[in-house]
Amino acid sequence: MSSFAFEPVIGLEIHVQLATATKMFCGCELSFGQPPNTRTCPVCLGLPGALPVANERAVHFGLMIGLALGCELAPQSVFHRKNYFYPDLPKGYQISQYDEPLCRGGRLGEVRIHRVHLEEDAAKLIHLGVSGRIDRSDVSVVDFNRGGTPLAEIVTEPDIRSAEQAAEWLKLLRATLRRLGVSDVNMEEGSLRCDANISVREVGSDQLGVKTELKNMNSFRFIERGIKAEVARQEGLLIGGEQVIQETLHYDPSSGRITSLRSKEEAHDYRYFPEPDLLPVTISEQMRSRAEAEMPELPVDRMERLQRELALSAESAQLLSFRDELGDYFEASLAAASGTIEPQVLANWVSGDLLGRLAEGQDPAQTNVSPASLAGLVQLVSDGAISVGAGRQVLDELIERGGEPEEIVERLALSALSGEDELSGIVAEAIAANADAAQRVRSGNEKAIGPIVGFVMRQTRGRADGGQVKRLIEQQLTSHL
Ligand code: ADP
Ligand code: MG
Ligand code: ZN
Repeated sequence: MSSFAFEPVIGLEIHVQLATATKMFCGCELSFGQPPNTRTCPVCLGLPGALPVANERAVHFGLMIGLALGCELAPQSVFHRKNYFYPDLPKGYQISQYDEPLCRGGRLGEVRIHRVHLEEDAAKLIHLGVSGRIDRSDVSVVDFNRGGTPLAEIVTEPDIRSAEQAAEWLKLLRATLRRLGVSDVNMEEGSLRCDANISVREVGSDQLGVKTELKNMNSFRFIERGIKAEVARQEGLLIGGEQVIQETLHYDPSSGRITSLRSKEEAHDYRYFPEPDLLPVTISEQMRSRAEAEMPELPVDRMERLQRELALSAESAQLLSFRDELGDYFEASLAAASGTIEPQVLANWVSGDLLGRLAEGQDPAQTNVSPASLAGLVQLVSDGAISVGAGRQVLDELIERGGEPEEIVERLALSALSGEDELSGIVAEAIAANADAAQRVRSGNEKAIGPIVGFVMRQTRGRADGGQVKRLIEQQLTSHL
């Protein structure tokens, strides 16, 4: 028996709810947790005779996404009816785009984009189960508030080669969409949803294997795990001489199990036809230039700039670009610095001590620490006016009450003990109080210095510089041999 090495081939289909004021084809407000079925009208309920009108802002957002992904914008695109029945789609069809989408081609990072099109979201089915308010275990209810919410669907080429790469790339896409301001991109709340198309093939082959589609995964962790599980399942089939069947699958993160939802449907199953109640979308020069004018600096570009211009590490540049509120704060802080501070040092304070003091996902701009005061604090540490430990105490105080770093240093008496005389005295005391440790250091056990350093730090309440303290201890120990 020959042994095969397989490689995964993955393409993603991402649905993004657009943050417009109103729905895709009617004037209903978008709903965020409002009472069920209170944001509806004849159009989004699909009542006979109601006429849809395309949302101009959704088209604008679609164009911005297309531009950000380097797509070609179609001068004219068409809405189609995609016919199928499901309880969350009672009119029997979804308005989507078929063979004339808004955008084609493009690339984000190392993954090529196949297309971007606009469509409407379905309503939301809620499976009450035994714990539901209705006293039946087999009841599902429908909330039409979500029905008709504008969606952009982004389809990649099958360029992804691992589960980890899929999750990483999706983070880049999410950061990009967030920067564009076109969506909340909140996976838990379903404003960013991802289907993964997965196949495996022998390494070296240029043919694509039969694919399956893992539906609607709503966290990066589950996407990674789901893809891994499906790749393993397919490899198992192929190694055992069986074939992969093209189908749509569900991954259950709690059990790790993959179950079949339905055999794969083909485009012709949907009987697509042009939506007779809507005109084709024509993109004027004006619409295109308006989208271009609103294009912000994108995460990939910012990441590159932070490394090139400020010599930040790749890791810092990525964090500050993918979480743009951190990047904005960092850059505001750098601009507010009165002297020159090392950008990487400031970046380390933002990504380490400051981030560590924030709640999950919190924007530092919403705290008491102004960008200028962080810059001032980093300046004091860089100049040696306070120790790193004292700097952390200043940051605690800034988080707690805000204020000016210099005033806090004064008030809490945190300025560095750099006067060698004062420090020397404390070091001598520390050696006397830790005679055993001192003896062990003298006889070559370097690690035994710990308690002596600790004594000095306690005495000085962290104001002394650790390096200097060690140096002084070593000096005194060797000179008293
Ligand atoms: P379908 O017609 O089944 O929807 P498409 O050709 O439209 O298939 O592709 C849908 C998604 O599946 C795209 O993201 C594409 O990159 C991906 N894809 C297509 N073929 C494969 C394959 N053999 N393996 C993995 N992904 C694939
Ligand atoms: Mg498809
Ligand atoms: Zn409506």
